[in-house]
Amino acid sequence: MNLLTKYFNQDKKQIVEVDKNNRNLDYECLAINSYNENTRAFLKIQDGCNNFCTYCVIPYTRGNSRSREKNEIISEAKKLVSNGYKEIVFTGIDMASYGKDLKDDINFNKLIKNVLDAVPNLKRLRISSLEASLINDEFINLLKNYPQIARHLHIPLQSGCEKILEKMNRKYTKEEFKRRLIKIREAIPDIALACDVIVGFPDETEEDFMETYQFIIDCNFNYLHVFPYSSRPGTVASKMSNQIENKVKKERVTKLINLGEKLKEKYEEQFDNQLVDVIVESYNPKTKLYKGYSSNYLEVSLKSEKDIKGLFLKTIYHKN
Ligand code: SF4
Repeated sequence: MNLLTKYFNQDKKQIVEVDKNNRNLDYECLAINSYNENTRAFLKIQDGCNNFCTYCVIPYTRGNSRSREKNEIISEAKKLVSNGYKEIVFTGIDMASYGKDLKDDINFNKLIKNVLDAVPNLKRLRISSLEASLINDEFINLLKNYPQIARHLHIPLQSGCEKILEKMNRKYTKEEFKRRLIKIREAIPDIALACDVIVGFPDETEEDFMETYQFIIDCNFNYLHVFPYSSRPGTVASKMSNQIENKVKKERVTKLINLGEKLKEKYEEQFDNQLVDVIVESYNPKTKLYKGYSSNYLEVSLKSEKDIKGLFLKTIYHKN
């Protein structure tokens, strides 16, 4: 029996074959696979992706987008909270697609609302990564109405150059992307915005890279996660001309990491000596300090005679 599915690029050339066992799977009931000192749990709500960015193998290896049933997510969240977890992180490959494959009238925003209404003792819900397309009025209203949603969004940008975005098959223009950031900052001015960027994508010239560099400054991101482009066999991008030398990629990565450090410093300075809410995650016996994170992902150190691990509390943030 032939279990391979073939995929073709725009020129009708076969680009990859995938075992059918890996596609169109029913959602496997994914157990939580990562914990943090018993305070933060990761809850996978979705897997797979239908977006076919030209550099990415996930749609081939992980299959179509599959969403976990809402009621399963709610009961898992309830269980976690009753086991003492203060923070749940929603994870998934493409959470913007959440619900599209389910029969219920559900989407990502409705899921968040349903979970927070059903689990009122959950102190914080963090979203691991969110496509810019999800930042709409409905989502912004949710953030305003539910302070439990972490004021920290990680939004994959990948490039700030229009030409490269198109070659990547990302489904937005840089102006659309920026408009969404402006909108969310108008509503929640203190929010921390982080992004992923890939540098050295095929055919990225120095001017293209500088367009991305400038765009990141214009968007005033607070945290950057920078990756050198890495060719994945079978993808459309791996066959593109003008692959970029490793040396050039490294230089570009360094420039963006340096920029990211400055942006992070600038963001953190705003909160120096300000009151923030913290979930205390760990204790270091060497430094005798507790460590936790605020809603907007500031790392906070605390001294305490009492054991405060696992507590949700308000404290003054001091930037190191
Ligand atoms: S980069 Fe993300 S959105 Fe694009 S195909 Fe891969 S998983 Fe999907």
